[in-house]
Amino acid sequence: MRLTRLQLLLGFTLCLAVAAVHASPEKVFTLDPQTVAKSFQVFDPDVRVRWDEDYFYVESNSMPDHRMMVGIRAWNQQVPLPQPYSGGNAFQLTLRPRYAETPISGKETLFRGAIAVAANGIPIFNPIKQDGRTDTNLAGELDEFGGHAGRADDYHYHLGPVHLAERLGPDLPLAWALDGFPIYGYREPDGSPVADLDWLNGHPGADGGYHYHATEDYPYLNGGFRGEVELRDGEVAVQPRARGVRPYTRPLRGAAITAFERPDDTTYQLECKLGGEYYSVEYSVERNGGAGFVFTDPGSPPRTERYSARDRRGGGKKGGSKRAEGRRDEQRTRGGRKGPDPNDPNRRPWLVVHAPELDANGDGDLAYAELMADIETTFQSYDQDDSGRVTQEEYSVRGVRTAFGGYAQQHSDEIDSDGDGALSKQEMVSVAERMFRRADRNSDQTVDRAELRER
Ligand SMILES: [Zn+2]
Ligand SMILES: [Zn+2]
Repeated sequence: MRLTRLQLLLGFTLCLAVAAVHASPEKVFTLDPQTVAKSFQVFDPDVRVRWDEDYFYVESNSMPDHRMMVGIRAWNQQVPLPQPYSGGNAFQLTLRPRYAETPISGKETLFRGAIAVAANGIPIFNPIKQDGRTDTNLAGELDEFGGHAGRADDYHYHLGPVHLAERLGPDLPLAWALDGFPIYGYREPDGSPVADLDWLNGHPGADGGYHYHATEDYPYLNGGFRGEVELRDGEVAVQPRARGVRPYTRPLRGAAITAFERPDDTTYQLECKLGGEYYSVEYSVERNGGAGFVFTDPGSPPRTERYSARDRRGGGKKGGSKRAEGRRDEQRTRGGRKGPDPNDPNRRPWLVVHAPELDANGDGDLAYAELMADIETTFQSYDQDDSGRVTQEEYSVRGVRTAFGGYAQQHSDEIDSDGDGALSKQEMVSVAERMFRRADRNSDQTVDRAELRER
């Protein structure tokens, strides 16, 4: 097809018009650090602030002064531990926020890391969690203040911290988004109702600046960034890093947290209810950064674990191999318990021994899907950096609390069929599948009670 000159001219004009719509005039705001400081100063000395020419810094240990964890109906077994969000690991906000050429949507990215910091120094994550689809609020994963502890035992919110309005009053922001724009509550700073929010839950304010609002429904707070931010691997590049002392633990389906007490400054008690029975964790934070845990499960003696500050590493990030130290500590307190003797002639197959643990719905039969659910949790628990493979550094830490978790540690050579030194999920699935096929004699996708007994 040949284009006439008129068609070309028309096309060209159209392109110009489209370009004019997209290239919004660059808008830069200048923030007064004294004004930004006001919200945070309400929580001094738990929250400290400082600033230079370009940036405003917020420091905290991420332990709020309100009750935590109670109200969670889907608990991942993590608990809040103080975090070192200070010095070079503080929150950093630009004092010259500017509109991004292309605003970022929190529905498409930002599923990891903080997107805002609350006035009380607690990081706020995207309401949608790492899997990119689950609304943590609707999934029952949040406590009565919209928070919970993450993989590094780091407490954070996933909702706008509207409970802080009581302390802050209506005119101070509840939080600041990491693009440098403030987040207000359900009303405007002057008390009037909120109107005309854009798709990011924000709008230009009466003061000439831009701000976001908390809302009762999704996105709950800034639904992404209207302002410019640097992203790296789908999260805000510059933000504090959590440091965990122990491996990621597995979510307990149906576990509801019923109590959280702080008997003194360094000790915490958490109680959870699962299947009509109560479990508890008491833990204490040592001055040097270490932590001790006592787990009490119904019908079994208390179990202790201790981790020293040396075990601390980035949450979900590549860290040192110092975790082995934590493992030694644990073995000592557990009396160096070992796995079954492989030379024992009466040894039963792994699948049969662990069937009660794998049988998630407790009906006495082991379904293929139940085994695969355990593999999925095992894999995700070990794969701390979400790289899609479990490296030796990752699986050599204390076993995750899944049925397959211990097996993966003891039989890593067998599982690593391509010999690349790391375990892929497919490799784990293959081994588990082989064990299942062997036990499932009638191939009905269930190892039933009779088949379990035959072994
Ligand atoms: Zn979270
Ligand atoms: Zn507003």
